[in-house]
Amino acid sequence: MLVSQILSGKGGGKVITATPDMLISEAAAILAERRIGGLVVSTDGSSIEGILSERDIVRSLAARGATCLEDKVADLMTRNPVCCSREDTSDQVLLRMTEGRFRHMPVVEDGKLAGIVTIGDVVSARLSQLSMEKDALEGMIMGR
Ligand code: AMP
Repeated sequence: MLVSQILSGKGGGKVITATPDMLISEAAAILAERRIGGLVVSTDGSSIEGILSERDIVRSLAARGATCLEDKVADLMTRNPVCCSREDTSDQVLLRMTEGRFRHMPVVEDGKLAGIVTIGDVVSARLSQLSMEKDALEGMIMGR
C-alpha cells in the first residue's frame, strides 16, 4: 500500500501546523483541542521546519516543570524530521518509524508539506488491507 492511498483514506484534510514562535502552551492547547499527538512546525504552512510531539512537551515538563510552557515551539521541536513521499510504501514508512522510534511522518511533495501519516494510520490501513485479502481468499476457497 502506498502513502498516497493512506492519505486518500484519511479524506485529505489540511495538516495542522504550529509556527516556531508559538508558545508551547499554545501548541499544547492545539494538540488537546484537535486530539492529535504531533504538530508539523512551519512558518508558512508549507515548508517544514520541524515537528513537535506531545512527548517533547512531556519530557520537558518532567525535566524543567511548567516553565517550559512559556518556551517557544522552536525550543522543543525536532529539526529536520524524517519525511516520506506519496510514492513510499506503508512498509517503508513503518520501518522508518520503528527504527527512529517516532509515530508521525510528514509527507512531502515538491519540497512542500503534502500531508502527515501516523503509525495509527499505517496500522489501520494495513488491517483493512489484510481484511480485504482474507475475504478475497475465503471467496476463492468457497467459490463465491
Ligand atoms: P512521536 O513518537 O512521533 O510522538 O515523537 C517522538 C519523538 O520523535 C519526539 O521527540 C518528536 O519530536 C520526534 N519525531 C516525531 N516525528 C518525527 C519524524 N518524522 N522525524 C524525526 N523525529 C520525529
